[in-house]
Amino acid sequence: MSLKITDDCINCDVCEPECPNGAISQGEEIYVIDPNLCTECVGHYDEPQCQQVCPVDCIPKDENRVESRDELMQKYLIITGKA
Ligand code: SF4
Ligand code: SF4
Repeated sequence: MSLKITDDCINCDVCEPECPNGAISQGEEIYVIDPNLCTECVGHYDEPQCQQVCPVDCIPKDENRVESRDELMQKYLIITGKA
């Protein structure tokens, strides 16, 4: 499933450059994750990079967007043009 950024975000800008899929951007008030681009970093890294760097731990999994690891890998392959 994709990850999401909660209201606890302090707009520190640290996560945005860490996303290998370009899924993170500045939203109207806080940073946001495009669920169509977030693969939980599957295909790139073992752990979600945004979660690793967020100083306030405000990037949980989005329980409304459940995806299996295979589905995330397929999304990665499509995003990167390898499918
Ligand atoms: S989990 Fe990975 S792909 Fe998803 S938003 Fe965070 S850094 Fe980007
Ligand atoms: S690292 Fe965390 S607090 Fe900083 S912009 Fe990203 S989501 Fe917000």
